[in-house]
Amino acid sequence: MANRNESTDGQLSLETLALHAGTAPDPTTGALLTPIYQTTTFTQEAVGSHKGFTYSRAGNPTVAALEARLAALEGAPHATCYATGLAATLALCLALLKSGDRVVASQAVYGGTVRLLRQVLAPFGVSSEFIDTSDTNVLTEALRVPTSFLFIETPANPTLKLTDIALAARLAHASGALLIVDNTLLTPALQRPLDLGADIVLHSTTKFIEGHNATVGGALVTRDAELHERFTFMRTATGVIQSPFNAWLTLQGVKTLPVRMTQHSENALRVARFLESHPRVRSLAYPGLESFPQYELARQQQKTGGALIKFEVEGGTEAGIRLMNSVRVCSLAENLGAAETLITHPVSMTHGDVPPEQRAAAGITDGLVRLSVGLEHPDDIISDLKQGLCR
Ligand code: PLP
Repeated sequence: MANRNESTDGQLSLETLALHAGTAPDPTTGALLTPIYQTTTFTQEAVGSHKGFTYSRAGNPTVAALEARLAALEGAPHATCYATGLAATLALCLALLKSGDRVVASQAVYGGTVRLLRQVLAPFGVSSEFIDTSDTNVLTEALRVPTSFLFIETPANPTLKLTDIALAARLAHASGALLIVDNTLLTPALQRPLDLGADIVLHSTTKFIEGHNATVGGALVTRDAELHERFTFMRTATGVIQSPFNAWLTLQGVKTLPVRMTQHSENALRVARFLESHPRVRSLAYPGLESFPQYELARQQQKTGGALIKFEVEGGTEAGIRLMNSVRVCSLAENLGAAETLITHPVSMTHGDVPPEQRAAAGITDGLVRLSVGLEHPDDIISDLKQGLCR
């Protein structure tokens, strides 16, 4: 395939971009796959003259290939990749905030994001307010106070509550704030926040983008060259870049992203329908179900429902834990977005560091079960859950 540039990438479909954007056969050997440039440094032709790479903390060709691909998938010219999703969040905060600044964030977001804002950045003088960003009045009110950026996760991890991205962008911009969307749960295959007015998209590529439970990684994607410049500077200054090997694995994983996301959603819808009709399941939420309270919004801004389902088991926390301890096809684990179905207890795992009062306000109950539906045959996932629910 010919070398891809931005203008041709813009005309290709997502499925094609996922396979080809940002890479070209190696000009010296013809190797189809971009090599793992496992090198610390790059020789320079003369002082002040080099081929674009100097030292792998500042940039690396394998990482750059992944960046070009992710940028193309989100419909943007710029992306930077990081060691983890949280490293991307850290670089974002350090690049955009200073002491005295304020952040408004969704009440339900990944627990590590809350921990970073509350426990790491607060002592440096950054204040954060966690609110229900799905409520227009609450959001409007919160943005009356000067705010550097609004950080939303939609669907939110783990409640799956949605925030209207286009509305959030309008409100944020009217108040002089940037809008950042953590698009980890849906990926550009199912939702493109920049098209809806967001300024920056954040990813934990650890999840669906790499998709195989093999790496940790993160990314920031933007259409704004000046913001991109700030992220690149902060990444070099703090040393939080993605490793070439993990970038290479992610380049392989992302090739099948559109196909996987379609299948994840189909499987999740079948599993959600089964769970919804099960007498021992309550408080189930899945954005692809007609019963989902924000179903219309889901249809507007997402392509499909995604892979995640949240529910509780009749009998409370004990019953939920019994189910999670008895599954065999699903794996009890602290991740989401992999080919394997993962079942998680957010209160003791991913959201353990979120203060109990914030968890309560966000609806993260002690008995909440999060299911990241994988690519096994849905009948096998359903049978596994059925036997677990009988215990
Ligand atoms: N954003 C979301 C929605 C997540 O679920 C996670 C991790 O679970 C992160 C960000 C942080 O990513 P990482 O674990 O790659 O640091």
